[in-house]
Amino acid sequence: MQLYCVRDLGDLSFPGLRFIAYIAALLWVNLGFGQAEVVSSFTVLDYWVGSLVPNNVQHKSLIASGGELHGYQISPADIRLLKAARIVIGLNPITEPWLADWAKANNRESDLVWLNPDQSGQHLHAWLNPDKAKVMVSRLNILLTERLKLKDKESQDLADKSLKEIDEAADSIKSLFASIPEERRKIIAYHPSLESFAEYFGLKVVATVVDSAVAESADPSAQRYSEILKLIKDQGVRVIAYDEGQNSRIAEQLTIDGRLPPPISLSFEYLQSPGKEGDTWPTMMILNARKIAEGLKK
Ligand SMILES: [Zn+2]
Repeated sequence: MQLYCVRDLGDLSFPGLRFIAYIAALLWVNLGFGQAEVVSSFTVLDYWVGSLVPNNVQHKSLIASGGELHGYQISPADIRLLKAARIVIGLNPITEPWLADWAKANNRESDLVWLNPDQSGQHLHAWLNPDKAKVMVSRLNILLTERLKLKDKESQDLADKSLKEIDEAADSIKSLFASIPEERRKIIAYHPSLESFAEYFGLKVVATVVDSAVAESADPSAQRYSEILKLIKDQGVRVIAYDEGQNSRIAEQLTIDGRLPPPISLSFEYLQSPGKEGDTWPTMMILNARKIAEGLKK
């Protein structure tokens, strides 16, 4: 058998290669490769879908690891995926208005399911609260079993496993915080994302650098900055957090002016790419909780 090396392809002119790539791309789309039956808005929901369906059910997240729900804009590739999907899973029409708009414009509202329809502010990041995570997983399990006509027993076993995994992660996180006195469990977060986590694990989010739960970019005014700095000093806050991948300048300045250790980066908004620590819901939760606990102990 002869092995071909790159040089053997020299006969194919550059436009020829381009044509082959074009045909391959056409087949890829039209034969349905790269498509998924269940499409979720972001990695956390897709992880739960993957935990609840048999291996032969294709599923995908629109927003890849490292991307956030906030301010997301739907791409042409997303539209192709959505078009081919049987079920579309989102969190909430406030966190994913772009998905709500797509479903409305394309008459697909009956295929789109919101896992956390509660629209009150502190619940927008509901996946960070184990109780709410379990409600979402149970809801998702019923939905997928019904619409994909999955076997009841198999589905129930997968759901039980998923719910147990959430309980076990919650117990590990509780033990990370157990030795930290309640009056020390104070944190400044970057945007209003941590409330549902804090509420469950007995932490206090004293303030957030930006006010909006759904926009991440604007810097605080000078007045807001002074207010936060005063809160840090008055309440003895030890941990300033910022969102991984976002600008850490304000958080760093706060730690300098507040004479605190450097800020910690948290990545609660998505799962890490496969193979990295934090690529599942439990490991993502524990990874972030460990960073917070270490910061609170300093
Ligand atoms: Zn967020």
